[in-house]
Amino acid sequence: VTTFAGRKVALFGLGGSGLVTARALRDGGADVLAWDDGAEGLARAAAEGIPTGDLREADWSSFEALVLSPGVPLTHPEPHWSVRLAQGAGVEIVGDIELFCRERRARAPGAPFVAITGTNGKSTTTALIAHLLRAAGRDVQMGGNIGVAILSLEPPSESRVHVVEMSSFQIDLCPSLDPSVGVLLNITPDHLDRHGTLEQYAAIKERLVRGAGLAVVGVDDGPSRAIADRRGAGLVRIRVPHGPLAASEATGEAVSARDGVIRDADGTPLADITGIGSLRGAHNGQNAAVAVVVARALGIESEDIRAGLASFPGLPHRMEEVGRRGPVLFVNDSKATNADSTEKALTAFRDIHWILGGKAKDGGIFPLVPYFERVAHAYLIGAASDAFAATLDGAVPYTRCETLDVAVEKAAAGAAASGAPEPVVLLSPACASYDQFRNFEVRGDRFRDLVRALP
Ligand code: ADP
Repeated sequence: VTTFAGRKVALFGLGGSGLVTARALRDGGADVLAWDDGAEGLARAAAEGIPTGDLREADWSSFEALVLSPGVPLTHPEPHWSVRLAQGAGVEIVGDIELFCRERRARAPGAPFVAITGTNGKSTTTALIAHLLRAAGRDVQMGGNIGVAILSLEPPSESRVHVVEMSSFQIDLCPSLDPSVGVLLNITPDHLDRHGTLEQYAAIKERLVRGAGLAVVGVDDGPSRAIADRRGAGLVRIRVPHGPLAASEATGEAVSARDGVIRDADGTPLADITGIGSLRGAHNGQNAAVAVVVARALGIESEDIRAGLASFPGLPHRMEEVGRRGPVLFVNDSKATNADSTEKALTAFRDIHWILGGKAKDGGIFPLVPYFERVAHAYLIGAASDAFAATLDGAVPYTRCETLDVAVEKAAAGAAASGAPEPVVLLSPACASYDQFRNFEVRGDRFRDLVRALP
């Protein structure tokens, strides 16, 4: 990126994306001084010849900007010391996606750029939009919060689409965010420890909607609906009526997803996702409706959109079908680390042999009681076993399994013996994984391996 060519820039945070950003700035001719509180990032930067130095001792009057990693606190629980130093010296604070936006404006202002945010469904929707565009033959670059640093992608050009997932932290560091299409899926209280109040969190997300050429907004929750109402022209509303997402009755014209059918505001069917395994569940109706609207806005033909939906492989660990044994379907939903996420999986299946447990979150599985009728048997693992057994008692038969290995074996046997036409063995733990696994990915990978090893 050439935005800061010939000028001095401070950079704090040398994780994966920080290092890529430092490299891009240096290669674009900026005079970068990078720092991190940890030795590992510093060593990697030094090994690549990126100048490093303690920014606490730097002359801040000489810097043009502070480029900050999205993981470093800008406001909550309190501003990082580098933020205070920059603010004290009147130095602007930006993130890597802001650098991308400036590059795009300078070099290819008409380059299609889709930015996606929301409390839930960001990665699924980002991957689905990228998939639909690619399946239709477009040149697509996908990155951002989905795990690929934006400055490691090919640069913007008029014939190439950038599809970028953005967390609130990344939006906060992107003052001139102006995507050609901006998506806000939903807003629910989450991560408030790092955003203060729900109002502040929603205000950050609103900036993406306000700056977008076309805004696509899910209107099933109050905060998102209020943002849509303030937007004015260039807006498509998305509704999932009567689904578990619809907290209240929304009005106004909207593209809707209901019982697997996506309809235009006037009722015309646009696509049918019933039977597409990777898009099960009302929440995926929201994600798919958004993706269909975005693809249409970028000129993709209906036929290509339908074919793309059908061939979407889905993301690992999110209601991922990992195999069948006879009539039994095995589903890996390891990403469901709280009751809210597990609710989505429980509403998508019946005759469920449910593997759950780990390190419990506040509230445990009480919010899931209304779905217990869908569960044939529960298999408990990890630290939350006692607490969860108490909630299940008398409502759902359960077996204490301690480990995932035992749970898969017992659940597979229980489901096979149940006599139901299509029983499901579902790993949807409603818990963090830290008591037994490094992260949810390791837990889900283990589940997949265990299923594949079943006779
Ligand atoms: P994110 O990237 O925002 O964390 P993901 O696409 O990775 O979202 O999905 C994470 C989990 O959130 C899923 O496993 C599912 O339980 C839930 N989820 C996905 N899409 C939605 C949606 N549109 N609304 C509500 N919850 C959703």
